[in-house]
Amino acid sequence: MAKPKKTARSKWKMIKNPIPWPGGANVAVNYTFDMDADSILHIAHPDDAATRVSTMSYLRYGPEVAVPRICDMFEAYGVPVTFFVPGWCVEEHPKAVERMLKGGHEVAHHGYMHELANLSTRDREYYWTQRTFEVIERFTGQKPRGIRQPWAAYSKHSSEILTELGIQYDSSLLADDVPYIIRARSGRELVELPINWPMDDWPHYVHNADLDYLMPIKSPREATEVYMSEFDVMWKAKGYWEACWHPFVSGRPARMEYIAQMIEEMQKIGKVWFCTMEDCAKHVRKLVDQGKYKPRVDKLPYKEARISQLAEDAIPLRG
Ligand SMILES: [Zn+2]
Repeated sequence: MAKPKKTARSKWKMIKNPIPWPGGANVAVNYTFDMDADSILHIAHPDDAATRVSTMSYLRYGPEVAVPRICDMFEAYGVPVTFFVPGWCVEEHPKAVERMLKGGHEVAHHGYMHELANLSTRDREYYWTQRTFEVIERFTGQKPRGIRQPWAAYSKHSSEILTELGIQYDSSLLADDVPYIIRARSGRELVELPINWPMDDWPHYVHNADLDYLMPIKSPREATEVYMSEFDVMWKAKGYWEACWHPFVSGRPARMEYIAQMIEEMQKIGKVWFCTMEDCAKHVRKLVDQGKYKPRVDKLPYKEARISQLAEDAIPLRG
């Protein structure tokens, strides 16, 4: 009998360096929610946030109504969640944080006031990062193990500051499809659990003038189609699936109903490792340390300043 011909499909791989997940799972799934609450309004409009009551109510829906619902639902399915919470929001909305802890979910670092780290000096970034460390430790009894920089505004100093403070993973960058390693100039490392814009709920659902973000609102069916097409491919490719959502956005009834259906679908398909970001990062770190997995390593920062070709004034900057 003639040898079957190799198909085009069998000659290439979507993900070349799949990570061996626990229990032989095809995909690791991280559900994450950034509980920004009203911090983003105060920082955008420090002088008159107090008079923007409607938007403040829109945002405070997160800790007040959505977080308990999210916890109830994910716990019912036995799926853990990682919540990224700014230090100020921990102090302002302690009940929401207590609810997260009660359910055994992870509480991670998300700046102090949702500030842009890449607009700070190194000293200021260090100060606010450390201050949030103390707040989270005081409220949760544990130092944060991971961070997502607010607005994903990872700075050129972040790698050094975060590794100096003992952070084990970051989830702000987008340089790969599966977790990889960030190496700072000092040689210290972080595990990067990459984000991916189609998996963020803002572009699908957020429409608010005070936040200067006006997207045409999608139905949960359309957004779920985007999320699940990512899942289907990642499951087949033995990849990684990470949802970056927000309680005030995705914690509303119709969207939560579709999230519940999504979890049911994933559980039906099987071979899925539902984990916190902390557990995912620990798993990757362990494989790397034991020499069982060779990750891609990104050395940061990519650049220190303006690139030399542009300093020569040889290339017109515009036009
Ligand atoms: Zn945020």
